[in-house]
Parts: sequence; C-alpha cells; structure tokens
Amino acid sequence: MKDWKTSARNLYDGAFRPMFIDGKWCEAQSGELIEARNPADGTLLATVPRGSDTDIGAAVAAARKAFVGPWSKFTPFERQALLLRIADRFEAEWETLCLSDTLDMGMPIQRTLANSRRVLGMLRFYAGQAVTIHGQTIQNSFPGEIYSSTVREPVGVVGAIIPWNAPIAGSVWKIAPAIATGCTVVLKPSEEASLTVLMIARIMQDAGLPDGVLNVVTGLGAEAGAALAAHPDVDKIVFTGSTATGQAIARAATGNLKRVSLELGGKSPVIVCKDADIEKAVPVAAMAVFANSGQICIAGSRLFVAREIHDEFVQRVAEYAAGLKIGHGIDTATDIGPIISARQAERIAGYLDVGAREGAEVLTGGGKADGPDLKGGHFIQPTVFGRVTDEMTIAREEIFGPVISALPFDSIDEVVERANATAYGLAAGVFSTHLGTAHKLAHRLKAGSVWVNMYHAIDPAVPFGGVKMSGYGREGGTEHMDEYLDTKAIWINTD
Ligand code: NAD
Repeated sequence: MKDWKTSARNLYDGAFRPMFIDGKWCEAQSGELIEARNPADGTLLATVPRGSDTDIGAAVAAARKAFVGPWSKFTPFERQALLLRIADRFEAEWETLCLSDTLDMGMPIQRTLANSRRVLGMLRFYAGQAVTIHGQTIQNSFPGEIYSSTVREPVGVVGAIIPWNAPIAGSVWKIAPAIATGCTVVLKPSEEASLTVLMIARIMQDAGLPDGVLNVVTGLGAEAGAALAAHPDVDKIVFTGSTATGQAIARAATGNLKRVSLELGGKSPVIVCKDADIEKAVPVAAMAVFANSGQICIAGSRLFVAREIHDEFVQRVAEYAAGLKIGHGIDTATDIGPIISARQAERIAGYLDVGAREGAEVLTGGGKADGPDLKGGHFIQPTVFGRVTDEMTIAREEIFGPVISALPFDSIDEVVERANATAYGLAAGVFSTHLGTAHKLAHRLKAGSVWVNMYHAIDPAVPFGGVKMSGYGREGGTEHMDEYLDTKAIWINTD
C-alpha cells in the first residue's frame, strides 16, 4: 500500500507558490500573500499570491492577446490533440493531484482517487467535442437568391470562478470546454484551495498549452473575484459557488453585459418511498450528504421518508452515520475528512445548535468532533436530525456540512409539493422499486438532476446544472459547448 504520509511530507513545505499569467509564474503586483493551511491539522502547506484587480487586468490582457493571436490559428484537431495530451499527463500525475487536493482541502484520498474516471473522462470527452463544432445551412425565404448559414465561434475570454470543495473537477470542467471551443480563460480558484489548481496549470503548460490560454490568478473573492466578474474585456463568466455570490457576480456582469452561467447552491430532497429497497437505500441516502463531509452542492440534505418505514429507515441511517470514521484525509480508512476552515466549521456548528433549539431530535452526532488524531483540524460529526419540520431553519437553508434532516411523508402528491417548496432546484433523489412511482417523481421534481435508486452520479457526457436559485446554464453534455460558443448568421446574395 502507498505511504501517503511520506508523500505528503514531500509535496508541500510551506514555501511560496506563484500564480500563472501569460505562461509565466509570478507574484501578485502588491507582493501580498495568502496562506494555504491543511484543514485537517492546521499545518502551513504554502503561501500563494493575493492577486487583485491589477493582476486580473494583466491576466485578462494575456487571455485576449492569446485569443486573437496564436490560439486562434489552432485547428479543432490541434485543440483535440492538446486535450488528449493533457489527459495523459493528468493520468500520469493523478496520485500527486489527489494528494494535493487532500492536503489543501481535506477530501479523503480514497474519494479523490476515485474521481479519476470522471476527470480524465472530462478531458477526453471535450477532446471529442472539439472536432464536432458545426453550423447549419438554413433554407430561407429566398431560395436560390440568398444563401444563409450559421457558424459557431468561441465566445472569447472566459472568466472562471470556482469554490473550494472540488478543485480538480471544478477547474477541469471550466477549462476543458474552453480549450475545445478555442476560448481563453482567466481562472480564480477559491482562496481556501488554490494549490491543486496551480498544479493543474503547470501540467497543462507541460502538455503544450500556449501562453495566455489559461491564466490562474489566486486571491480573495471580494478582490480578485469581483474584479474578474466586472472586467469589461471579459466576454463570459462561468461561476460555481454560493447563491449569494452568484447574485453578486450576475450584477457585476451587467457593466459590459457579459454572458454568465451559474452553478449555485442547493437543498436537495431525497425521497424514500415505502416500497424502497431499504438495505440498498440506507448507505446511499447517508452518503448523499456525508460524502466530502457534506461539502457538496448536491447534498441530499432533506431526507423525506414514507411514514410506514420512517422510524426504521432513519434509525438505520443514524447507525450508518455513527459508524463512519472521522479523520485526516490521507488516512485511507477515513470516511469523513475535515471541514475546509474554522469559520465554516463554526457556521455548521451554529446550524446544529439552531436545529436542537428549534426542536429537532439529534439521533446521532450533533457537534464538533475531537480526539488525539484530530488536533488542529476542523471536524464535525456526521449528524442525523429526526422530528424535523419543513419550517425549521435546518430544513430550509443550505448547511454545506454533514447534516441530514429527516422528514416523514404520507403521500406522493404531498411529498412532491414539500420537496419542491424551496428556492433551490439543483438535484433530487428517489428510492422506489415501483417503476411508475419513480418515473412520476422524476418528472414532477423541480431539479436539474434526479437520480433514481442512486445518488451523486455526474458524468462528462451528461448535462449538470440547476433551476431556480441553483443557477442557470449546464456543464457536461453537448449543451455545455453552447455555453462557450456564439452563433453567427452569414447571408450571401447569390445574384
Ligand atoms: P463562495 O460563493 O463563497 O465562493 C466561490 C468562489 O467565488 C470563490 O472563488 C470566492 O473567492 C469567489 N467569490 C466570493 N465573493 C465573490 C465576489 N463578490 N465576486 C466574485 N467572486 C467571489 O462559495 P464557497 O463557500 O467557496 O462554496 C460553497 C458554495 O458553492 C455552496 O453554496 C455550494 O452549494 C456551492 N457549490 C455549487 C456547485 C454546483 O455545481 N452547483 C458545486 C460546488 C459548490
């Protein structure tokens, strides 16, 4: 078995890691720094530049120069070949990427390693898409006299802003379609998790990505992020993060009416019908929330269970939760890693207090986790609340932590109405052995993705995104390419 502890000691030593603009590795113009600390034990991994509006300006200028310059001469086949080379490099360096993510943001190493199919699949999927871009010939009202057609053109300079909870997949899902379509990118990673994104830029550079096609500016949201969202020479913003930040970004984008797509938060329902296969549903419903310590946008945090099986089912989910091992991400036995920061752990603990105060019953967990192996880290026990009502704060607000609110229901019509009674619409889960019930629920739930007798599946070939306040636009699938392309109509007078 691999010795992750030794590899971890050799990867980060507290030293400065520069950011990446126009193919060069640089400091912030201000010289200011941000610390990157391991959320599992508080050790200093590295420092990174605290980029601000001037650095964003330099990165956008580099991205524009590349977009109109050498990058525009790349054929679709050359962009495809580049993406395939990047995929091969990712595959070769996969373990190092995963270790970096585990150290920087805490995701258990077993989980990061297991994401390889998805991430390598993304790079290879968009490599395929690069050579399928095409317009149409359109039969207009003047046959034989006027010829009309469309061409698809890259939208231009894309500003990408991502959260900290999945830096590898999050950044690749923004960069790969840009390379496939011929766009250029300025990427602002989360201030909580920049290190792996910088490693990704290095891998892409090694694979032959021309200067300026990808620029990574590290920094704070209110500084570098806000400057990118408002920059007048950015043509499109692709954002993943909280709904409140998404709203701020959409407002900032109005200055030059840049296009925006938003992947935001959720309060996703999981519905367990009375005919569900309980044995199979318990671990899936539990991990629908506890995976990545609940720091997943699609967390199925409202667990609706048919009243006939409610008590037994919820009890079993609580027992499952109590058996999960909390620990450092590089321990391969760990199920529940740390929460990203002390601030975020405090936020979650606040919700645990509010839940108990508003009358929910703690069936397991309910507080911070500590112990000799957890010193210096930010850990929260996987928690299951019973006796929750729809009005309670914990059933309404996104907690972004390992917290399940269990709610009984009596009929399908009732549960559909209650499940949809939220401002969000990112995802939903259904557990039923009755095909008709599963189908009905899948159609009636207002969500961008519905999983039946499963949860969490995300694939590069399948569109993913939200409705309502979970955002707009789709990542994955052929629709994703549309987010990075404009359509131009060309008219030719044949007379
Ligand atoms: P966040 O909104 O606080 O930050 C996300 C990114 O936006 C970070 O890079 C941050 O620096 C930047 N940012 C912050 N303020 C900004 C501003 N004013 N202008 C521009 N950029 C700004 O989110 P987070 O706490 O990092 O992540 C958690 C949230 O992300 C949750 O709400 C979660 O549901 C959501 N999320 C959604 C998806 C999805 O695909 N729908 C995936 C992962 C996470």
